[in-house]
Amino acid sequence: MATFRPLALAALALPALLLGACDALPAPASADAALDIPEVESGAISEATIKDVTRLLASDEFEGRMPGTIGEEKTIALLTERFKAARLKPGNGNSWVQEVPLVEITGKDYAPLTLTGKGAPIALQFGKDWVGVTYREEARTTLKDSELVFVGYGINAPEKGWNDYAGLDVRGKTVVILVNDPDWQAEGLEGPFGGKAMTYYGRWTYKFEEAARQGAAAALIVHQSAPASYGWNVVESSWTGPQAYPQYGANPPPRTQMNGWITEAAARKVLAAAGQDLDALTKAAQTKGFKPVSLGLAAATSFANDLRRFSSHNVIGILPGSEAPDEYVLHTAHWDHLGRCTPARDGDDICNGAIDNATGTAALVALAEAHAKAGPARRSLVFIALTAEESGLLGAYHYAANPIFPLAQTVGGVNMDALQMAGPARDVTAIGLGKSALDRFLEAALKADGRVITPDPKPEAGYYYRSDHFALAKRGVPMLYIDGGQDLIEGGRAAGEAVAKDYTENRYHGPKDEFDEAWDWSGVMADLQLYYRLGRMLAMSTSWPNWNEGDEFRAIREQACQAASKGC
Ligand SMILES: [Zn+2]
Repeated sequence: MATFRPLALAALALPALLLGACDALPAPASADAALDIPEVESGAISEATIKDVTRLLASDEFEGRMPGTIGEEKTIALLTERFKAARLKPGNGNSWVQEVPLVEITGKDYAPLTLTGKGAPIALQFGKDWVGVTYREEARTTLKDSELVFVGYGINAPEKGWNDYAGLDVRGKTVVILVNDPDWQAEGLEGPFGGKAMTYYGRWTYKFEEAARQGAAAALIVHQSAPASYGWNVVESSWTGPQAYPQYGANPPPRTQMNGWITEAAARKVLAAAGQDLDALTKAAQTKGFKPVSLGLAAATSFANDLRRFSSHNVIGILPGSEAPDEYVLHTAHWDHLGRCTPARDGDDICNGAIDNATGTAALVALAEAHAKAGPARRSLVFIALTAEESGLLGAYHYAANPIFPLAQTVGGVNMDALQMAGPARDVTAIGLGKSALDRFLEAALKADGRVITPDPKPEAGYYYRSDHFALAKRGVPMLYIDGGQDLIEGGRAAGEAVAKDYTENRYHGPKDEFDEAWDWSGVMADLQLYYRLGRMLAMSTSWPNWNEGDEFRAIREQACQAASKGC
């Protein structure tokens, strides 16, 4: 779910970070004080490979690469064939794939969402005013007479003394939630939830997880473009049609009957009917001690669900290391996209996902080829094309919960999602800068190219939580997530912002994210050189970069390292 960023801050010179093994642990005598920057001969990384693989994956023939469709079969076959040709080894024993059991649920025959109890009943139209799905494997979803409650930002953060559900039992009720964090409009990074930067509490995934933990029957997030950082068109195309979920088996996590979104206009109408005002409620919700507000309305709707269980696949290849083959450096990229989606005006209904993420998947193949050509590194280099990222990082969560290579022996890695196709840039954008000692590897690799780091220009969009590295980070594995630069050689930041704006508004998660024969690949080739250097440096080093002091993922890493007999 990565997108381009509209606005970039000034480049940031990084303080020399202390780097050694996980410094909370007895570090082996390695400490790469000076990082060897690998030379990349020209032609070592094949432009033809990334171009051809991107073009193929983004072609109509692959039908938008929806998990569990012919698009998946073609994608798995192509990646397996290219990993083999690159002379990688199968990454899962003798198999090139890891099965990811999923269930596809497709809602249909939606009744309007009706709100009754004050004045004339309100009937909201599916798709136009609201969208909703169930995560439960039930043939029919029926929400009846469910009391409506406004729960502000829907956050329960004991460590911050913040609970938007305090004092109200919402079991069986329908909660109305605001997206992002209460302090998302802050100028800087100061505030109870990190100011402008979105925390995981701001993500729609967290909102639904918490509503389910609270026992709500349904949860509706109010869509507002600014705090969400995308338009209703994205919500509508992502939340209608087939949706994929993990097969939870015997002990599923708590789940509501229905999760969905409601437009700002529809929310204002419903709140007004309850004698409330969205702006006044939002103001109250941004204040510590906010109390949930019962709206005196009852919600009802129903729809049928087509259920289909199937296994999707992560594709995994490895270049075994020479001296420390049981230490692993990861490269990840999701191969999936939305398949067929809401048609464009010209009737085109294939969401080709050229930039998102045919480019990143093709980069995986080009890097695998280049590393194999260069020969084994000290540690093993792993290449994982993940499934079902668009459905909630499902392939990555499945891998992180069922790792083929022990996480404590996984040094770290880099995730590639939606490469920048706007031409060469003086910088790269580091999402999650300052989280781990991997930054030092990035800094060194960039210096070799005379490029600089730009911090995430839009921390309020929560991009660190929106792609596959997050599923691994949540299990403690240090992961880098870099995006293309904004300061273009041709046209500077203004040009970079214009390309980003066009992508976000006209192509992201729509039928027009298509392959363009006119693309200038020199920018991506420079980024590939950076990814190559990063992977090689990590795989040649003896160190175990850790999360920085105070980072949300450091504790879980140290626990994992302590519990492991070898590795970090
Ligand atoms: Zn993506």
